[in-house]
Amino acid sequence: MDAALVTVGDELLAGDTENTNATWLARELTERGVDVRRVLTVPDIEAAIADAVQEYADRYDAVIVTGGLGGTPDDLTMDAVAAAFDRPLEENDLARADLERTLKAITDSYPDLNVDIEAEAAIPAGARPLINDAGLSPGAVVENVYVLPGIPGEMQRMFEGVAEEFAGDVESRVLYTTEPEANLIERLDGVRNRFGVQVGCYPDREAGHNRLKLRSDDPEKLDEATAWLSEEVRLVEPDADTHVGERVGAGASDDE
Ligand code: ATP
Repeated sequence: MDAALVTVGDELLAGDTENTNATWLARELTERGVDVRRVLTVPDIEAAIADAVQEYADRYDAVIVTGGLGGTPDDLTMDAVAAAFDRPLEENDLARADLERTLKAITDSYPDLNVDIEAEAAIPAGARPLINDAGLSPGAVVENVYVLPGIPGEMQRMFEGVAEEFAGDVESRVLYTTEPEANLIERLDGVRNRFGVQVGCYPDREAGHNRLKLRSDDPEKLDEATAWLSEEVRLVEPDADTHVGERVGAGASDDE
């Protein structure tokens, strides 16, 4: 399975907000074996969002869009996704019931809250609503496009509800070495050519080592490639806190 991420918001393009949603989702999908092929940030412009959604929905197995839900004028994501699939927006009963339940529960804390329920509960016709357990605006699934909120806590909670729908075969193995990057080129080419795996070299100046990451959807080839490279390269143990979830050495996988 491959996937693309579309994060929506002028504040992301301006650097006002760090795009933690993209990083969080990329990591979650990668841990599930999904091959994340694109991460794109688009402005709060309906046509820009719709174009990206249309192109990526055609090209990838799944697309996750975050941000731009809700009632403010810059919240255009649902309109854009509806336009991308040539569907109207329609009030959804389940989404409305959930919104009403949430509003009732918070009425003491926010007695003057002015929410346009009909607009908030509108999702593309025929879409599956995703209930927002951590906020107000519902998300939706339209064919292979998942629309999630921008607020990280809400987005994460909603993703967890659909996480099982994302699964792939791509695994990775990680090795660490202090050998300089320039000296590794031949051996990195070698492992790629011999075993047909992807290999990346990521220098970490602070830790004083290079992180070598091998990826493939063929676990046997990946183990063979890791064993070969482990023989060819002078390996070191990473610091205990180098990368959460990763193990060093042949046969170790960062999704174990
Ligand atoms: P709401 O439920 O309030 O309508 P929303 O889905 O419309 O939220 P946005 O209005 O796009 O989301 O963003 C709300 C807030 O969420 C932003 O101010 C920002 O702090 C945060 N946010 C949005 N997108 C991202 C992102 N990609 N990474 C991290 N934070 C984000």
